[in-house]
Amino acid sequence: MTDADTGVWSVKYAAKALLGYLMDIRLGAAGPGPEVSVPSPWDTWWACYRATIPLPGLALSIVVRDRSCPSCTGRALRLAAASPPGHPGTGAQACGCLLRWAGQMRAPGPRVAWPPVSLSLALIKPDAPTAAINDLLAPVYGILGSRQLTLTTADTRRLYPEAYGADYVRDRDAYLTSGPAQVLILRARRADTDPGAVKMRIRGQIGGAALRNHLHMPDNPGEALADIAQFAGYQELAQLYRRYERDHTVRRLAFYRAALGSGPAGADCLPAAG
Ligand SMILES: [Zn+2]
Repeated sequence: MTDADTGVWSVKYAAKALLGYLMDIRLGAAGPGPEVSVPSPWDTWWACYRATIPLPGLALSIVVRDRSCPSCTGRALRLAAASPPGHPGTGAQACGCLLRWAGQMRAPGPRVAWPPVSLSLALIKPDAPTAAINDLLAPVYGILGSRQLTLTTADTRRLYPEAYGADYVRDRDAYLTSGPAQVLILRARRADTDPGAVKMRIRGQIGGAALRNHLHMPDNPGEALADIAQFAGYQELAQLYRRYERDHTVRRLAFYRAALGSGPAGADCLPAAG
């Protein structure tokens, strides 16, 4: 593992670590944390947008390490500070920073060994084999809640704020909003469940294609909590968190502080999944 490799990891996963950090601070009532840092102003924007929490409401001190593009720094932080946080759109920009950042976010990379999270959410997409997916989830997760809904483009944007490319976004939105989807709020039966691995295994078992992949499940704790907030609301999430996540808060906060450069292990140290 070279420093260059770990640097790429940090860029790819910093926004997700920041999202996890702010969700655990808010839900765990952990009080203001130490200063953390992210590579790009777009990381800060992404975490705020995904959580629908405006930057000033976070009570967090977030240093942006790369301020080489003043235009992006100003824009990303303004969008993050809006209530609710705004979206920059998917069109091209002169400086190209946003597209480069989004490309890094969505590029394939090593899976990170995120700290444990009990709660998760499965979104079974339109026209998916819903009963088969429920059966495959059942040995791994208990179902705490289930509802059917038809997604809007506002939903898809909040689920995937970093998606780019007009054609891709149009096709994805047409697919995801085309009919009823099922949302399941889940609780892992075992403490060491890796939601990313469960998702990949189920996708492999039911088939599907790159776009029509049938199942959305977050692979990291921050997005798991943000997805529950999106579909069940913060009030219900807070109740679930008190029941099922309190034991994980301290460990996750230590992980995020290390990953975001304010813990003893320093920056760029998200461990790979085994
Ligand atoms: Zn820029």
